[in-house]
Amino acid sequence: MRGLRERLQDGETVVVAEGYLWELERRGLLQFGNFLPEVVLEKPEAVEMLHEEFALAGSDVIEAYTYYAYREMMKLRGREDEVEKLNRDALAIARRVADKYDKLMAGGLSNTPLYKENDPEAQQKIYDMFKEQVEWAVDAGADYIIGETFGSYGEARIALQTIKDFGKGVPAVITIAAHFPDCTTDDVPIPEACKRLEDEGAAVVGINCSRGPDVMMPLLKEIKKVCKGPIAALPVPYRTNDKERTFFSLKDPKTGKLVYPDNLDCVRCTRIDIRKFAEDAKQLGIQYVGLCCGNSPSLTREVAEVFDKNPPASKYSTSASQSFVFGDSAKTYGTEMAKMAKFMKGE
Ligand SMILES: [Zn+2]
Repeated sequence: MRGLRERLQDGETVVVAEGYLWELERRGLLQFGNFLPEVVLEKPEAVEMLHEEFALAGSDVIEAYTYYAYREMMKLRGREDEVEKLNRDALAIARRVADKYDKLMAGGLSNTPLYKENDPEAQQKIYDMFKEQVEWAVDAGADYIIGETFGSYGEARIALQTIKDFGKGVPAVITIAAHFPDCTTDDVPIPEACKRLEDEGAAVVGINCSRGPDVMMPLLKEIKKVCKGPIAALPVPYRTNDKERTFFSLKDPKTGKLVYPDNLDCVRCTRIDIRKFAEDAKQLGIQYVGLCCGNSPSLTREVAEVFDKNPPASKYSTSASQSFVFGDSAKTYGTEMAKMAKFMKGE
């Protein structure tokens, strides 16, 4: 099977479903606040099913659900002794689904609360945690490794370094979480951080999480100006705006209250919003595209359809014409259904 680099070199766009944490929480299988992917140990079949749903919706990649499953976080939750099992199980599930649907499988590293700019000891601790996760991913046959949601350039760089040092040549995709300002928490302008990570050997660089499509797009244009290679764009499907630039800062339009993390439904992007994002990304020449927290198979399908992936789930794309009230067949039921449609729409 063609790897990530070959696909990108051939000018293809790779569609990537992220956002497992949010979707599994919505299904009642995971806790906001704790954020640990304990579901991998406690209900692995749910993780496997969600991978399958994203595969059918057109994701080209199955990302192992190891988000926040690094040693320090597991220790914080009193489950350090299970860190290796959780990672290996998650990777095995992802590999199984990837093989079943002929997809790429990616290992995953994520941001930690440990990074400090002038603290070599803290940086070494992060390096050691990422090292073991990279080694487990390589053992499981990962096609490439994602390092995601980094607030600082420094921590993103450590992730890239461990993939280079222990990844046995697998490509690295490094994405930064752009919050309010267009710079990292260690004060590097994000386009500059992406450029440096690209120069340092990442196969794909870009941004994921935190911002919704409308606020992410202008920054993507700036990144595109300075980077030569493929750019990643994986926003959260929420209606962020210039005043509320991240999903952490969004407010309920009805109550004015902050909605992160568990009341975000009232500001969720529609499928039309996501299709527009995918079209904009296509026009900009984004080659690594997807959605992060808040994603669902129905939204991934919108992205995949725009990029002509022809996903099996398109079989179930909406066909309003089949509705017996609003569709073509309504006529065959005479005036009764026409009246029903009027009543329903309030016309
Ligand atoms: Zn996210």
